[in-house]
Amino acid sequence: MIDPFGRAISYLRVSVTDRCDLRCVYCMSEDMTFVPRAQLLTLEELDRVCSTFVGLGVKKLRLTGGEPLVRKNVLSLFESLGRHLKTGALDELTLTTNGTQLDGAAERLRAAGVERINISLDSLDADRFKTITRWGNHAQVMDGIRAAKASGLKVKINVVALRDVNEDEFDDMVAWCGREGFDLVFIETMPMGDIDGDRTDQYLPLSVVRARLANRWTMSAIPDNTGGPARYMRVAETGGRVGFITPMTHNFCESCNRVRLTCTGTLYMCLGQEDAADLRKPLRQSESNAPLIAAIHEAIGRKPKGHDFIIDRRHSRPAVGRHMSVTGG
Ligand code: SAM
Ligand code: SF4
Repeated sequence: MIDPFGRAISYLRVSVTDRCDLRCVYCMSEDMTFVPRAQLLTLEELDRVCSTFVGLGVKKLRLTGGEPLVRKNVLSLFESLGRHLKTGALDELTLTTNGTQLDGAAERLRAAGVERINISLDSLDADRFKTITRWGNHAQVMDGIRAAKASGLKVKINVVALRDVNEDEFDDMVAWCGREGFDLVFIETMPMGDIDGDRTDQYLPLSVVRARLANRWTMSAIPDNTGGPARYMRVAETGGRVGFITPMTHNFCESCNRVRLTCTGTLYMCLGQEDAADLRKPLRQSESNAPLIAAIHEAIGRKPKGHDFIIDRRHSRPAVGRHMSVTGG
């Protein structure tokens, strides 16, 4: 699958549910309306769409959400998709999770063939974690992180950089991740979906974060070998890696290799644009995958060049109306 700008599409992210057991302030409002369960693709349908993408050249699958691990029986989806790792058709099966359910899931994920996972953790402080996530229990997430490590999963910690909220903890995060052997990735807030507060107040450019970290740590750039949007630095003191995802200050769209599927079967060709293709209809139209494959090719053929995210006082409305939890981060 090659898009109109010559980019090969080899990465599919799937939001298996838009629901979540947390309400992070930058991601959701407290009172969210979710997709009615009847509109969800079944786990079997999700497997069929994912497997079709694998047949078309997708080498990396990430299940996300919402919180992927709150979807009932989702571990069976990981287990069935794991067959593509065994045949070599798929290079990587992974997930992004808030960690709340990991304690009971890590072993099965590892057994299904998952090797690396991204866990979101915006604070090492229990009270602050509660403020950021509204409903979160820090100890529960730390148990999940420990279980992931113990089961042999490689862990990457995602931190959304929030002005005046967690910016004083970043040195501690670098030290903690260094000790634990976790990669650490900082993310800028993106203007997606209505939240209760004003995003301009939360937005902290990572250029600032990076400059501050450089006062404390010896950081050297390492070549980006993940093909993803993060730019990685090696921290000499810990030996660990710290990445920066800067959708706002640095536009990474030119190397974008991914598309995103929602839990209702809508394919978004760009996280930051509204254009989408319905795959549920062609999926359900026939037992043959031909209509689905045709719809996927048609959609890839209109993948846009990039996003137009802007956060400032004049652009107080989100760039796209849907929340990150719809298309998955
Ligand atoms: N619930 C899971 C989690 O939190 O890891 C997976 C889904 S969550 C939408 C995926 C990632 O997107 C998380 O790391 C989260 O911090 C990030 N995220 C959510 N809303 C965001 C926003 N508006 N801007 C930047 N990152 C966001
Ligand atoms: Fe839930 Fe993840 Fe969004 Fe937080 S960032 S509200 S954990 S989907």
